[in-house]
Amino acid sequence: MKTSIATVSISGEFEEKLSAIARAGFDGIEIFENDFLAFDRSPAEVGQMVRDHGLTVSLFQPFRDFEGMPEPFRSRNFDRAERKFDLMAELGTDLMLICSNASPVSLGGIDRAAADFHELGERAAKRGLRVGYEALAWGRHINDHRDAWEIVRRVDHPSIGLILDSFHTLARKIEVNSIRSIPGDRIFIVQLADAPLIEMDLLYWSRHFRNMPGEGDLAVTPFMQAIAATGYNGYLSLEIFNDQFRGGSPEAISRDGRRSLVYLMDQVRRVEPDMRIPVPAMPDRSEVSGIAFVEFAVGDDDGRELEALLEILGFRAVGRHHSKAVTVMRQGEINLVLNREEKGFANASYLVHGANAYAFGLMVDDAYAAHSRALQLGSEDFRQPVGPGEIQVPAIRGVGGGIVYFLDRKTSLGDIWDVEFEPIAEDQTTASSVGLTRIDHLAQTTRYEEMLTWLLFYTSQFATRKTPMVDIIDPAGVVRSQVVETQDGRLRITLNGAENRNTLAGRFIAETFGSGSQHIAFETDDIFATAEALAHNGFKSLVISPNYYDDVEVRFGLDPDLVERMKAANILYDRDDAGEYFQLYSPTYGEGFFFEIVERRGYAGYGAPNAIFRIAALKRHLRPSGMPR
Ligand code: MG
Ligand code: MG
Repeated sequence: MKTSIATVSISGEFEEKLSAIARAGFDGIEIFENDFLAFDRSPAEVGQMVRDHGLTVSLFQPFRDFEGMPEPFRSRNFDRAERKFDLMAELGTDLMLICSNASPVSLGGIDRAAADFHELGERAAKRGLRVGYEALAWGRHINDHRDAWEIVRRVDHPSIGLILDSFHTLARKIEVNSIRSIPGDRIFIVQLADAPLIEMDLLYWSRHFRNMPGEGDLAVTPFMQAIAATGYNGYLSLEIFNDQFRGGSPEAISRDGRRSLVYLMDQVRRVEPDMRIPVPAMPDRSEVSGIAFVEFAVGDDDGRELEALLEILGFRAVGRHHSKAVTVMRQGEINLVLNREEKGFANASYLVHGANAYAFGLMVDDAYAAHSRALQLGSEDFRQPVGPGEIQVPAIRGVGGGIVYFLDRKTSLGDIWDVEFEPIAEDQTTASSVGLTRIDHLAQTTRYEEMLTWLLFYTSQFATRKTPMVDIIDPAGVVRSQVVETQDGRLRITLNGAENRNTLAGRFIAETFGSGSQHIAFETDDIFATAEALAHNGFKSLVISPNYYDDVEVRFGLDPDLVERMKAANILYDRDDAGEYFQLYSPTYGEGFFFEIVERRGYAGYGAPNAIFRIAALKRHLRPSGMPR
């Protein structure tokens, strides 16, 4: 599989882009003329730089407004094309993209366009060059790949072929199976991009909102499936115009791009096994049956503080690690690990971020298969030295610098608590359960620009789906929220993207010097009983404004007695078509971390309408007596 990416897709200086692209594992780049109009090297030097990075120039683009022009534009266009051919020779590429004419001066007519391309094909052939024709979704006469193909078919010249771009086809909802009848060797290059579904002007949508396959809502997989069926075996090239990416890290965006193509082709391979594009076999996305544990890196003092808080929340220390300063606390199916080691990754994370939930373990169907898939998708392996008799749990670096461990029940990995931990007798602690059963969701906070990276990381690795993005209004700005979840809800991760540091989420990132888990939500079967047990333990829940309860009673037509009970325990409420949701929060611990307790009565969401009340309450908690920020 040959992969390529347009240099406009990522930010940075030209050379910086090249090294990021090469390191991510791409074979080639598409060059835009602007790349070196603004650059002080000659095309020959640019070509050499590309090759010095082990890359090739897969395509030179764009050449606009070529076909169907009246004189004198027509003659001028051929002169212009000859000059571009000179440039391509210097750059060292043999393929040029011509996009369908958008000029109001242009004339329609399939045969007229075919005649122009035939003449151009003759000129290109003399120089050993090729020209690909792409239908722009907003082309004046040609805006559909079926018409572009009809022109290329009539040209019938070996130097003239078709270029397919998923955005242009899918944005106009053109039936992708129309691609299947095109001979694969007549397709010169395939450009891939996804996009979120937004109703807007096609050109604006394309120039600002494209994203990597799998990050948006377009049916890129069926599109690519249809291409694979043609016998096409050329470059898969990312052509992404996205404002966020242009402000993001070239390394991260390049890695996302490569991951998106590996993920895409793994899906295509499973339905088109006879395709000519060679794609390495890899394990399927892992089935996740739950969050096996969350691990906190803590120091001595904040470790004691966290342990005390967890005891109030009904957790009991059940095991002490044989050789490390690591304790596991448990309630129901929930395992929380406190790591006080003074060396190793946890300690390094503690020193940089303070006490934080730096790692979590997922129970998957096959941990080693999950690990192998992760590495093939470009994730970084993570391992630390283990002592005698200890288990090397397969793990990777997650996004945001955390660690993701994989456990399963088919190997001894699932027995880690018995193998590596010394049980702590029940009579050594006073803590007793408040009825928490499992982790309902893990909430991770990130910079808004990184949200797609996180989303692609989870969805490409685990058998999950993503929900549409919702905006959460923090009084200080907007926080974008999107959820990755398994069908059965056994894994739920909410991602919150903060646009500025004044929002609570933004401040969390600024104060902990990075993204990560900001809250854990535990599930209970009876939130009122849990609230009572918590009160008995001395738990102080986050105080919700009384105004909230007046509003919620009216909004949902709730029984006043129920509302009184909710108010007494600071329980929030929401309802959807599937059922009811109750939630309560702890105040923040350490650098803005907090816990949530939820009861779902069939409800499928996450209480997004309540977020504004929770944020206001947390801010009051952080700044008692209403002091100005
Ligand atoms: Mg294109
Ligand atoms: Mg939550």
